[in-house]
Amino acid sequence: MGKKHRRSIKTPARVRFAPSPTGNLHVGGARTALFNWLIARNTGGSYVLRMEDTDRERSTPESEAQILRALEWLGLDWDEGPLRQSERSEIYEAAIQRLRESGAVYPAYETEDELEAMREAARKDKRAPVVRGRRDYSQDELDAFAAEGREPVWRFAVPLPGETLIDDYIRGEVRFGHDSIEDFVVARSDGSPTYNLAAAVDDLEMGITHVLRGEDHLSNTPKQILVMQALGGTPPEYVHMPLIAGPDKKRLSKRHGAASTEDLRDAGFIPKTVLNSLALLGWSYDDKTTMFTPDELIEKFDVARISKSPAVFDIQKLNKMNGRYLRLMSDDKFLETLLEYLRFTGYLEQKGEGAEQIARTVAPAIKRKMSTLAEYDELAGWLHGPLEMDPEAWATIEQDVKHSIQVIGAGMGRLERTDPWDVEHIREDLSDELHILGEAARDFLEPQRVAITGRTISTGIYESLALLGKEQALKRYRVSMGRLAELWADA
Ligand code: GLU
Repeated sequence: MGKKHRRSIKTPARVRFAPSPTGNLHVGGARTALFNWLIARNTGGSYVLRMEDTDRERSTPESEAQILRALEWLGLDWDEGPLRQSERSEIYEAAIQRLRESGAVYPAYETEDELEAMREAARKDKRAPVVRGRRDYSQDELDAFAAEGREPVWRFAVPLPGETLIDDYIRGEVRFGHDSIEDFVVARSDGSPTYNLAAAVDDLEMGITHVLRGEDHLSNTPKQILVMQALGGTPPEYVHMPLIAGPDKKRLSKRHGAASTEDLRDAGFIPKTVLNSLALLGWSYDDKTTMFTPDELIEKFDVARISKSPAVFDIQKLNKMNGRYLRLMSDDKFLETLLEYLRFTGYLEQKGEGAEQIARTVAPAIKRKMSTLAEYDELAGWLHGPLEMDPEAWATIEQDVKHSIQVIGAGMGRLERTDPWDVEHIREDLSDELHILGEAARDFLEPQRVAITGRTISTGIYESLALLGKEQALKRYRVSMGRLAELWADA
């Protein structure tokens, strides 16, 4: 373990978030984006956004747009960028040229078969299967290749013997013996740079002081340091984050509920919840505090408190936290958040005219019952559109048709006279009717609920009736009574 292990970043840090735009922003990437942002804001530094889009086949503008949308949704603003590696070829070409001139890289002509034979031989000798090209072609040989039109790749001549040391903020000192680092490719045969070359050149050129990224990049770090040193630069400091697993300790994937920030948004989580949960993936402030505003995170965040062991992403915890955040909102804020979600998911559009008004009316009544915004349909979907009978709910009143006709009919008869139509008067009148019939409350009220909502779960029965409005409520009563009457006649 390194001597300076577990230290904080105190001076203004210039950090970067460098996603490859080849898909959605997954949870691990979002955490990297957040932690870098927190370092920049906490130290009064700066935050550079860099698109690592050198892989022309896999990078897409849609993916870049999605990543930007996700960052904006989370409230992670950047100070510079997005810079795109695809627009910086000249910078990489110049760097490759310098590396060629200094002899730090060499042209390699090995075919794929030869490389495989090299790996195989190393495995037989129980050495690490690292690739080294022939570094000592004569000028005549090179001229001959050129005459044949063979274009080489350019490999970095890893200095042998030797070692590269990383003094990582989380893992302490990590040593890489050079015999285990292959002569990695820095330029493809068409002259285009590889990821390790571009990332190293950019981190140097952009004056990045701290690189925070996933532990899966640890083996790239010595290669990038070697490139930077060969270019005469001083490498940044490194923070390699532990990986993220699901509650079953397996690497996080879609199977664990949500793999991307977009999935989390679709699933009805608000940005506050997502940001807060991402922050707790490997970082903690103390043993108790679980809810932080973005400002509190900025103030309290410290890389010295990042754990070394894998972080666990548990969607159940997000559910709870989201419910708490929703309940903490004012009714107005909640309504605004809910409507934004219902618009974003296309729900309002799908339900047609009047849907927004229904959502506005029902919002205060469902706020305390929700954990995710996606539960809206379960709680309030019945209010939209004509009565739809859930077969299981219908079965509860079908059991005893005669009794159901009696109590539902009585409820309906009474409510026809209810005026004004509000929760209090509805409650008063139904309670009075219940008293007259001498029924148990459940046996009287539950059938009313099924008759007007078509479900056994909804907002409270009195609220439900009030929300529907008198006309709608009585219309639904008549539909249900009609069905029961048919059943009765058939019996
Ligand atoms: N583009 C890399 C990735 O998405 C990140 C590289 C880095 O942070 O250095 O995995």
